Amino acid sequence: MTGRDSTTEGNPPVYLDYQATTPVDPRVLEAMLPYFNEKFGNPHSVSHAYGWEAEAAVEKARRQIADLIGADDKEIVFTSGATEANNLAIKGVAHFYRQKRNHVVTVATEHKCVIESCRRLEREGFALTWLPVGPDGLLDLDALRDTVTDRTVLVSIMAANNEIGVIQPLAEIGAICRERGAFFHTDVAQAVGKFALDVDGMKIDLLSISGHKIYAPKGVGALYIRRRPRVRIEPMMDGGGQERGFRSGTVATQLAVGLGEASAICGREMADEDARLGRLRDKLHVGITAGLGDVLLNGSKEVRLSNNLNVSFLGVDAEALITNLKDLAISTGSACTSASVEPSYVLQALGLGDERARASVRFAVGRPTTDAEIDYAIERVVAEVSKLRAGTSKPVAATR
Ligand SMILES: *Cc1c(COP(=O)(O)O)cnc(C)c1O
Repeated sequence: MTGRDSTTEGNPPVYLDYQATTPVDPRVLEAMLPYFNEKFGNPHSVSHAYGWEAEAAVEKARRQIADLIGADDKEIVFTSGATEANNLAIKGVAHFYRQKRNHVVTVATEHKCVIESCRRLEREGFALTWLPVGPDGLLDLDALRDTVTDRTVLVSIMAANNEIGVIQPLAEIGAICRERGAFFHTDVAQAVGKFALDVDGMKIDLLSISGHKIYAPKGVGALYIRRRPRVRIEPMMDGGGQERGFRSGTVATQLAVGLGEASAICGREMADEDARLGRLRDKLHVGITAGLGDVLLNGSKEVRLSNNLNVSFLGVDAEALITNLKDLAISTGSACTSASVEPSYVLQALGLGDERARASVRFAVGRPTTDAEIDYAIERVVAEVSKLRAGTSKPVAATR
């Protein structure tokens, strides 16, 4: 065997859940460290050098993030993560323009925080359209064209899906929205740093980023808010008016620095990393399907992230498989909903049916993933799926 032996006592499981979260890149951590104590100033203190030093660091980070998406640094607002950015964008725009337009469009396969923000708007009296996706997980642009009108204030459609990795046609969506005067918000938590995004070219008006999906810490994110043509939003937080009034509260200098450095690294390394991760992901896919029959890919084969593999092992209960594969850190899809026994709503939206949805597992490779880890994962997945199918798997005590 070429892979590491994680079954040996004391070895941590092979981590293949990089769409749930990523470790902080050592270069990111190094950039952050001085801002915990040595350079501890409040970035909003204007009367002394401690404040100026912290402010300079925050502004550098803002530029680094803006550069990654083709934005102006004044258009970046720091938040606590993509959840906050999505809430702020969706509810903020809808509330600000509610007298003029009251229709919001989104897609059935969005992240929970987008879905729940939209549900709240629906309860408040907004008209919501929940667009379906095809069996490949992709949006039908004609359906979007038919639904966006001069009553539509906002269209919120994610760039890349967190469970199945499919990539929506952002530029086409942006063009449709701009033509009808509706704002286009996109959650790029899974997409930014993976492939090139350009807010002008794609006609994006608002865009949400999460730090911990791109090797920055948890608890930081950013919202891009277009200045020309101007997008206005109602803030959620009242206070000192930081972040151009969009998000009161002291900016966490060290977290902002981390997100900035992580963005700069992505900008430099994205193309090479995409190719390397695609090769590892394909190797995993090929290895698994060479060793096992009845493994079906979920979501479009062509239009997807290079690091995602979501497959159904027909006849196998994914929960049982994951329990038996304690030496691999993998999941059925969403960390946010994995406590529930319901099959994934994303897979259901593809029309896959309960049984296939319950047989599905998400693998996601990341920056630290090695060939040896993939070799090991292939061997273990093939072995445990075979055992479950043959009914020879020994019951393992559940860990949760
Ligand atoms: C992780 C994730 C979020 C939530 O981001 P947080 O920074 O954890 O709040 C939102 N949307 C998508 C698509 C994600 O993958």
